[in-house]
Parts: sequence; structure tokens; C-alpha cells
Amino acid sequence: MNNGHKPVGILAIQGDYAMHAKMLDRIAAPWKLVKHASELGEVSGLILPGGESTTMLKFFAGEGMGEAIKRFAEAGQPVFGTCAGAILLAREVSNPPQESLRLLDIAIERNAYGRQVDSSVRKGECPEIASQPLEMVFIRAPIILCVGPGVRVLGRCDGLPVLVEQGNLLAATFHPELTQDETLHRYFLGKLGD
Ligand code: GLN
Repeated sequence: MNNGHKPVGILAIQGDYAMHAKMLDRIAAPWKLVKHASELGEVSGLILPGGESTTMLKFFAGEGMGEAIKRFAEAGQPVFGTCAGAILLAREVSNPPQESLRLLDIAIERNAYGRQVDSSVRKGECPEIASQPLEMVFIRAPIILCVGPGVRVLGRCDGLPVLVEQGNLLAATFHPELTQDETLHRYFLGKLGD
């Protein structure tokens, strides 16, 4: 795919999109905040940030943004969902069930670590892309309950899949943008040239 020199889009409806922008600045990758569906034509890939998936979904319905993101992804453009972004990408969402883009063949349960471990910083393994364990920040994180046959598990933490890939789609249940570790953003940028 020829993405020319278009910047990476960051969905900026709600959530921690500014932290993704900060991370992309660190690795000198041009980015553009995406607030309207029409702006998807100006970006080479899209990051769906963490935040509140229900709030983002409400916006999707009103703006035609959900359909536009679906078309964008189905055309093969890379999309990276982190935490709430992973929930938006999933085929099936529980706790409670809610709508989603149904692009990524995973079933995911929201807020699945429970109140006792609302937020935590752990180490997880992504052996195919990082030789050392990565620091992973979980905030009211979902758990991936099952992955379809076309989905590769790239990262695990405490035995659970936390980073998955399906072709042009990448999803993490944690927040790589909240650490100093650039590995996952660099990996995503690598997909832009696929
Ligand atoms: N619990 C949030 C949701 O269900 C996700 C939390 C996050 O993105 N850190 O949308």
C-alpha cells in the first residue's frame, strides 16, 4: 500500500489521545488528530486511544465515524486500538454487551480485572517484537476472552493475551502510550508500509 507521506491519525473524540501524540513526537512520526470522518482521507493509519468506549460509540453513531473507520480498516489501512480502542475493534463485547466495529475477531470483556485491581502496572512478554518484558499499564482494562483463528497473540501478561494482531489491525488491552517504551508504536508504524 502506498501511504505517501500522510501522518498517522489519532482518533480525538475522547480519552488519552494526547499521550499517543506525545509518543509519536518522541519517535518523530507525524500525526494528525482525527475528529471528523472526512479527515480519515488525510491519514495513513489510525490509533483508537484508551478512554470510555461507550462515549466514543455514541459519537460514532451521530457522525458516521464508525462506518468510516470500518471502511478505512477494510481497505487495509492499519488501525491500532489501545484499551477502549481494543474494545471498539472487537467482534464481541461483554460486561455489559455493547456495539462495536466488529473488525477484530476477538471476544472481550470490559472492566474485567474487577475493582480490586482497577489499575496496575505489570510486566508482560511480547517475544516476537521485544526481547525484554515490556512495562504494561492497565487501567480499568478489558480481558480478551477468546481469539479467532486469524488472530495472532503477540503479547501476554499473567498468562492472558494482551496484545493481538489480525492483518492490518493491532490491539492492546493496556496503554503503551503511558510508558517510556516506544516498541509498540514503532511496531505499528512498521505496518504502515505493509
Ligand atoms: N473501561 C473502559 C471501557 O470500557 C476502558 C478503559 C481504558 O481505556 N483505560 O471503555
